[in-house]
Amino acid sequence: MFNDNIAAISTAVGTGGVAIVRISGDGALDFKKMFRFSAEPEEIAPNYMYAGKIEGDGFYDYGFFVYFKAPKSFTGEDTVEFHCHGGAKIARGILNKALSLGARAAERGEFTRRAFLNGKLTLSAAEGLAEMINAESLALVRAGGSLYFEKLSQKVRNIQNELKDILAAVAVEIDYPEEDESGADFSEIFRKIAAIEGEIAPLLQSYACGKKIREGVTVAICGAPNVGKSSLLNALLGYDKAIVSSEAGTTRDAVEGQIELGGVIFNLVDTAGIRERAGAIEKIGIERAKQVMQSADVVLCVTDGKQEVATGGATGKKITVFSKCDEVKPFGKYDVAVSSKTGEGLEKLRAYLLGAGGVENAANGAYLLEERHFNALKRAAEALKSACENEGATADLLRVDLNDAWTALGEITGETASEEIVATIFEKFCVGK
Ligand code: GDP
Repeated sequence: MFNDNIAAISTAVGTGGVAIVRISGDGALDFKKMFRFSAEPEEIAPNYMYAGKIEGDGFYDYGFFVYFKAPKSFTGEDTVEFHCHGGAKIARGILNKALSLGARAAERGEFTRRAFLNGKLTLSAAEGLAEMINAESLALVRAGGSLYFEKLSQKVRNIQNELKDILAAVAVEIDYPEEDESGADFSEIFRKIAAIEGEIAPLLQSYACGKKIREGVTVAICGAPNVGKSSLLNALLGYDKAIVSSEAGTTRDAVEGQIELGGVIFNLVDTAGIRERAGAIEKIGIERAKQVMQSADVVLCVTDGKQEVATGGATGKKITVFSKCDEVKPFGKYDVAVSSKTGEGLEKLRAYLLGAGGVENAANGAYLLEERHFNALKRAAEALKSACENEGATADLLRVDLNDAWTALGEITGETASEEIVATIFEKFCVGK
């Protein structure tokens, strides 16, 4: 199969120190004619950086040329890179020159798509790479990295191999059915299937953590008016986001801010204080506050000791915070005493938040991150369950279920993923990756 030469600017467009124009395809090395080597080599060695002049469309820049020889390149094809100065016009002009010499402008994610098609990485690794590139938190960089380094696909492949072994054992039963009428003895096979279910279950459970890492942990700050919720939000954020006033009922809508704890984003939402005698606008705020509270992962129940904390049916983990401890000696039941004024107790509160957020595993990246992977594993688990429930059924039916499980798992690595799935994944990439 002939791979045409695709070209793109691989660095972010804008002014910067350096920009890279990349060309990949069977004829990538031909584009060396755009380069005047400072010292002409007898032969271009792969993986070496050569200094010289790069020809752009109507100008020259001084920079570097690198050749990656197939299959030892990102895409698995012959690839060349021009490292030029990081001006938008410079990189664009060099790309235009390459296009005028016959290269085709690469589509979104086309380099990575070729890498996938050439077996350089699995589909889940490509997704991990996209997560890493788009990550807005350190935890997401780590989690994306774990996928990119094939941690999940290795686990999935192991499970697939175990399934293959079981399928082979089932095939024996089909080819040489037991002589006696009581039917085949599948007990050993069922035991092995149960063991695989046991490997999949914790992965499925870990998605709750992965989801929080992708979307952030939502923390609702609740409590009666004037207990110091807005002040606490500001203190945790380190800047003034919410209005602080001694007049009750000033926070009429949810005010949000983000902090990063343990590399994970926590979305803090200051809810409007809940009280009975509220005006019309404040009432709207109270309704929203209730909604935020009910869906929050963590609820900070702020109290100054004088008022009860109404949490309106919240299901998240609760942390009771005694506020204004610089003014009042804390009393009654509470988890942590804080002063937004002096900063006392804030460090302890951050530690509590991290614990209550359910993201302790964020550091090792050992959890499911993508809904697509979760769904595929769930389907595999369902097929295995169905296999075990077919007790007394034929080896043929067993084989169907086991094959279904194998195919569902293959969607994660890409082996059995449809063209459509593959296309949607690479559309998420930027041009040049
Ligand atoms: P909210 O209505 O629950 O959001 O409460 P605010 O944050 O608006 O604070 C209500 C009042 O309590 C304001 O006058 C604040 O200055 C005061 N306040 C809040 N936190 C503290 C604190 O840690 N120490 C002291 N001494 N006063 C505080």
